[in-house]
Amino acid sequence: MDGAALDTDTSGALVKVDVDELTRGLYYCMHCSLCKAVLPSEVGSDRFSEVCPPGARYRFDAFFGSGRAGFYRAFFTGEFGFDESPRLPEVVYSCQNCGSCSISCRYTSAIGQVDLERATEIMRARCVEEGLSPVEHSLMVQSMRQEDNVLGEPKAARGDWAEGLGLKDINSEKAEILFHAGCRYSYDADLRSAVRDAAGVLVAAGLDVGIAGKDEACCGGRAYEVGYQGELVKYADDMASRIRASGATTVVTPCADCYYTFRRLFPLVGRPLEVEVLHINEMIARLIAKGVITFKEMVPLRVTYHDPCHIGRKMYPEFMYEVPRLILGEIPGVELVEMERIRDCTWCCGAGGGVLEAYPEFNDWTAGERVAEALSTGADALVSSCPWCERNFIDAVAGAGAGMHVYDVVELVGAAMGGVQDGNRK
Ligand code: SF4
Ligand code: SF4
Repeated sequence: MDGAALDTDTSGALVKVDVDELTRGLYYCMHCSLCKAVLPSEVGSDRFSEVCPPGARYRFDAFFGSGRAGFYRAFFTGEFGFDESPRLPEVVYSCQNCGSCSISCRYTSAIGQVDLERATEIMRARCVEEGLSPVEHSLMVQSMRQEDNVLGEPKAARGDWAEGLGLKDINSEKAEILFHAGCRYSYDADLRSAVRDAAGVLVAAGLDVGIAGKDEACCGGRAYEVGYQGELVKYADDMASRIRASGATTVVTPCADCYYTFRRLFPLVGRPLEVEVLHINEMIARLIAKGVITFKEMVPLRVTYHDPCHIGRKMYPEFMYEVPRLILGEIPGVELVEMERIRDCTWCCGAGGGVLEAYPEFNDWTAGERVAEALSTGADALVSSCPWCERNFIDAVAGAGAGMHVYDVVELVGAAMGGVQDGNRK
């Protein structure tokens, strides 16, 4: 063990994590195995009782949180290393870092805190240092360095999604709200309607909203989560400079990953944003409460809601479980039917923690499991609040040959407002 501070820097900045403290917490795993399934009080059926995708898929203890707690601890104390287990990086990376096992520990571990999320991130940083991270992740980081996005898309096209919406360009104008679309929403043609609705709702509500357009950059969260921790500092500094240039007092994002990065990861590397950060759901809930936006159109739809990990249990203790459900409850015509695994017990969409990039087949299986659960409710549509979840579900629904629609909450809001993509204030 190399002491309390671990330097996992990859870009000239220093990230410190107290590994001694982390290791002490890992000792307190009670081997209760409660992280292997949904909390006992929440079990609905055998079919949908699993909660850890890699454990459920690979059926070996090392892939569950309980196994990770044991070998991460042994690794941090020097009892065990990459030489003894060539498959270790594969185990470390085939985890969506969904936060489910950490939640089980919070509710069950009597002593200390088994912080598997941070421990997994440190293990990945060690893999990067040893040159043992998946090649797909290094290509993704390369794309971030060259084009400021995780998808390998041209930086110049980043703001194209916003054409005709009436948003300010913060490169030349001040705005009270900086809208941050995120990489997936900026480039994914299948999700364009959702991101246009998200920004369009704000414009229709009469708010002063600007975007950075082609100068918006990745939040950096994905690089951090796959072990390139030093990259995050650069992106946090970039974001802070865009906020200063815009004069904004609030950042609003429709992306769950970006929201989590701004709210949880930036402070972790000593770069908290000095402004209010809201997910679009939170802003919409405020506008509804103030009577600024109202719903005049019926949206006759039976929906089921998927809780994204990054605005749900990974935001402990500030879970955003009720806000999207309250919004759906306000929309005339929408009927919500719940899946068995919701809130703390949600089954990850599959994309988290770099699994989408490094293990596409496992990613697809995980998403397929969630779509099977959604279909079992009899809902017409699977609704969520994260572009990564929605992308995965669109593909999984197509793979299953099912007729289910996939929407973001904001699309139902936009429809109930009578359409918000014309750039006009309603
Ligand atoms: S829930 Fe926590 S304490 Fe129980 S086995 Fe899993 S990691 Fe260990
Ligand atoms: S974070 Fe999620 S995917 Fe990873 S071990 Fe824990 S429950 Fe399984």
